Amino acid sequence: MRTASRVRLFQESVIREMTRIAHAEGAINLSQGIPDLPAPAQLKSAAARAIGEDHNQYSFTYGSAELRRALSRKLAKRNSIRSDPEDEITVTCGVSEGIVSTCLALLDPGDEAIVFEPFYENYLPAVHLAGAVPVTVSLTPGEWRLDMRALRGAITKRTRAVIVNTPMNPTGKVFTRDELEDIAALCTRHDLIAVTDEIYEDIIYEDTAHVSLASLDAMADRTVTVMGFSKTYGVTGWRVGYVAAARPLSEAIRKVHDYATVCAPTPLQEAVLAALALPDDYYDALRSSYTERRDLFCCGLLEMGFKLLPPAGAYYVLADFSALSGMADREFAQFLVREGGVASVPGGSFFSKPADGTHLVRFSFAPGMSTLKEALERIGKRLRELG
Ligand code: PLP
Repeated sequence: MRTASRVRLFQESVIREMTRIAHAEGAINLSQGIPDLPAPAQLKSAAARAIGEDHNQYSFTYGSAELRRALSRKLAKRNSIRSDPEDEITVTCGVSEGIVSTCLALLDPGDEAIVFEPFYENYLPAVHLAGAVPVTVSLTPGEWRLDMRALRGAITKRTRAVIVNTPMNPTGKVFTRDELEDIAALCTRHDLIAVTDEIYEDIIYEDTAHVSLASLDAMADRTVTVMGFSKTYGVTGWRVGYVAAARPLSEAIRKVHDYATVCAPTPLQEAVLAALALPDDYYDALRSSYTERRDLFCCGLLEMGFKLLPPAGAYYVLADFSALSGMADREFAQFLVREGGVASVPGGSFFSKPADGTHLVRFSFAPGMSTLKEALERIGKRLRELG
């Protein structure tokens, strides 16, 4: 049976494939970014209450009015983004839907969208689904700095958008204010839209500061800010995120959202209101818990001989194993999962040219300390046996 050509432009997610192998092999799954912190009790009881009180039908398609008002306050206070809850905020089924709806709403066939690589693997399919063309720009290998010459060189007459993920999956990079200002200047000069994915905004280490591109001068009207509840509150299965954008952009995004999903889950929209009311010490505890995991896991990998740049944000590490094995990334990841009992993601899946990631694997350190300790032991044991 024939399928649409646009779907042939991309493959099944390697992360989900590795997760399936992890299940089949009974391996520790460090391939998918699944937090194992329990969701806050306030959220769980708010969700149960909302269902009990029969908030079970479609919500207003753009999201409950109360939630949009709360999000507008949160965006102003924590991200320095001003947004009208009536017209400029849309509650989506996670960041994933937010990104796809944005691409479908704002990109025409033939338009080009810039994606920094190594990239989170959802962006390319999202751009392809819109009939547009992803143009990748490499960050400097190993240090993952923004190369402005490469970025400038990638701009053509067809460039319409730049997708910026900060804090970044898979590198753990947090774009600095200077880097974002350079991107902003380029967007203004070439009349581009910026689409940001800020799902890891609350998972940052040391004194790193998360800066929202939309808060920078002249970016408010040309940035689509996509954020979500999945990671900060440990509710990846709830599928609630949101998109903030100036009215004309939001209007277009809302049309796609409406026909694609009708609305995000109604009782869970009620429940995430409780998330927005959590005190500051919730976020401090979240950060210190992930800092502990990052330190344990990254030190463990470094001691074994992996090379890596400790992440400044998010909960992934892209580790270079070339000093330990001559295998290619897929082979190494298969070896780790089938013989070592630890699932990772082959580095090539984060690059447009998979050869650029052939010496890398990505581990998620979202699981708890005891799981991470066990994973380190397993990896160390298998590598020692490898010689
Ligand atoms: N964006 C990035 C960078 C991610 O790493 C993930 C999940 O791993 C998502 C988006 C998915 O977000 P959501 O659960 O809100 O769809």
